Amino acid sequence: MTSTKGDVLIVGAGVIGTTSAFRLARTGWRVTLFDPAPGSGATWAAAGMIAPSAEVSPGEEENFALQRGALAAWRDVARDVFDLIGDALDVFETGTLLVGYDASDRRLVDQFALVAQRFGVEPQLVTRDDHEALFDDVSPRVYEGLLLEGDAWLDPDQAIDLLSKANASLGVKVVRQQVLTATTDGDHVEVTTADQTFRGDVGILATGARALPQGVADRVANVVRPVRGMTVRVQGVDRSSLPTLRAIVRGRSLYMVSRPGGYCVLGASSDEQEELVVEVGELQRLLRDALDLVPSLESAAIVETRQGLRPASKDLAPFVETVDERWAWLSGHYRHGVTLAPLAAREAQSFAEGLT
Ligand SMILES: Cc1cc2nc3c(=O)[nH]c(=O)nc-3n(C[C@H](O)[C@H](O)[C@H](O)COP(=O)(O)OP(=O)(O)OC[C@H]3O[C@@H](n4cnc5c(N)ncnc54)[C@H](O)[C@@H]3O)c2cc1C
Repeated sequence: MTSTKGDVLIVGAGVIGTTSAFRLARTGWRVTLFDPAPGSGATWAAAGMIAPSAEVSPGEEENFALQRGALAAWRDVARDVFDLIGDALDVFETGTLLVGYDASDRRLVDQFALVAQRFGVEPQLVTRDDHEALFDDVSPRVYEGLLLEGDAWLDPDQAIDLLSKANASLGVKVVRQQVLTATTDGDHVEVTTADQTFRGDVGILATGARALPQGVADRVANVVRPVRGMTVRVQGVDRSSLPTLRAIVRGRSLYMVSRPGGYCVLGASSDEQEELVVEVGELQRLLRDALDLVPSLESAAIVETRQGLRPASKDLAPFVETVDERWAWLSGHYRHGVTLAPLAAREAQSFAEGLT
């Protein structure tokens, strides 16, 4: 594609970098995307929920407002991808069913309802007697829950795959190497890998929870800490036509995103750890809670576990930091990076356009 606006270098091809590349390339920028293993970071582990209602949390009002706009933004991305390559990026608008497992969990769900109402969410109390089908596969001891409209999910693997195809069709170049340095040289940006140097007009840093390259790392004000999370993927229970199941089980949060065909994503653990290992206790807790909530998982097959590092900022909110007039850093998306990616991409474009 002929560049009309200039060259953008994007460091990191997770959901944030890949979606930003798509938006920038589609709006006339020539894009080079750097990543030794595109899509292998937190994005790989993510369940793919776009669930502002289920995610309300005191103190995260601004983040909630952002998330509320994310579903429409994903619909736009899906339409643009389809127009370009003819493949459908599926966004499943199922809503969420939130339940408590025991009496004290149900009290926590009641408290959640009060917080949600303050955010303008209108949870609907549903009971097994009135809405039996909603409780398919859910333990008989759970007899009521909150139905949260407007929540959705997508498959992050599919999103990365289709966005990468769309990017290729727009001429986005992918360099499968780690960026070691990122610098500014007059009216250009420059990045180096182990054996090459690249120049561009503007640069976007989208390295998730990973350390920034030298040259920018010591020039930023924000701090991001990695919060490890694990999802377990199983095959054998299909609730895909029903709302995504979320629960509080013995005080711990649990979700099961059920895809057509019986593939389910169970999640997620959360640890202040950086090492990407699966701890026995972590896995045992997650599976025990899941089995208690959904007894029919007993005979489901474990497909794999996936781990990733959520990028958490000090106030748990996403940010766009202008490092200098040519480099911007997009991170801090924490539990919501898949949700917020199309909005982050808009920020990347605004930053780049601001230079012209
Ligand atoms: C278990 C789990 C479940 C989650 N579930 C959800 C969910 O349901 N919904 C939701 O919205 N969010 C969810 N999240 C959060 C979401 O996954 C993250 O917020 C999001 O993936 C962050 O995207 P990113 O592109 O910034 O980072 P990443 O996906 O981590 O990508 C960063 C990329 O940068 C590359 N990179 C790093 N340094 C360099 C370098 N120097 N040079 C070149 N490349 C580099 C890495 O290889 C990586 O591919 C979940 C996270 C976890 C861990």
